[in-house]
Amino acid sequence: MRPAGMNERLYRGRLAPSPTGYLHLGHARTFWIAWQRAKQNKGVLVLRNEDLDPDRCRSEYVQAMIEDLHWLGIEWQEGPMEGGPHAPYIQSQRLALYRSAFVQLREGGFLYPCTCSRKDVQRALQAPHAADDEPLYPGTCRHKSAFDIESAQRVNWRFRVPKRESVEFVDGQLGKQVFDAGKDFGDFVVWRHDGIPSYQLAVMVDDAAMHITEVVRGTDLLVSTARQLLLYRSLQKTPPTFFHCPLMTDESGIRLAKRHDALSLRHFRAQGRAPSELLAMFKL
Ligand code: GLU
Repeated sequence: MRPAGMNERLYRGRLAPSPTGYLHLGHARTFWIAWQRAKQNKGVLVLRNEDLDPDRCRSEYVQAMIEDLHWLGIEWQEGPMEGGPHAPYIQSQRLALYRSAFVQLREGGFLYPCTCSRKDVQRALQAPHAADDEPLYPGTCRHKSAFDIESAQRVNWRFRVPKRESVEFVDGQLGKQVFDAGKDFGDFVVWRHDGIPSYQLAVMVDDAAMHITEVVRGTDLLVSTARQLLLYRSLQKTPPTFFHCPLMTDESGIRLAKRHDALSLRHFRAQGRAPSELLAMFKL
């Protein structure tokens, strides 16, 4: 018999909001489930502020999300040493880490420079959109190398996905998932022309660096999980397990997004409603 504690990894989960608006019920439920899973597994939760997109993120939403999480009663145990246990890790302060992963991928031959604008991609599209509605990149620049690019050009670095390979994982909530690389998703951006890592790279690098053992996120990110699994493999990191939560919809079946202001936690708080009323709605 194995002595207790041997080979058993401590459960480490994370809450990873992007400060692009007030948290809504859908986020609250995903975070609440992440918290329950960490508690059930006697593990810890890390809070990470995913603020990399300067066009969409606003600092006022960071404080708001911390207040909203506290209001809901969700607790996390770990933040960076310098900010105290309740301060979040901040992605915009971790660029050097993402850059070194990007350089490793580029030097490993996994990436190519792409000079297509968003409009070029739209224009060249014949294939249908990927499963998560991100356009399937048509491969215009697939055979380019850094030598083909003039220094003044705006370059996004894309990951060359192994076409026809199926990417599989067993989801803790949904069971076996299979995605067809090149069909369900195309070559995706890893490093943007403005020097910012893509969501895919930053989230994967952070989950690995923070030794996250299970990622709890919404089903809207299922295809992104498949993309990230390819990054884990290319960077020779062990991936966590995944638990995807069904998305909440409003009465007409439309997915809750941050723009549904009426469904923000702020709104519920302003109405004087109790967190327990929301929590009752959160059972899976
Ligand atoms: N920051 C991402 C978001 O708010 C989620 C990250 C993730 O769970 O991977 O949509």
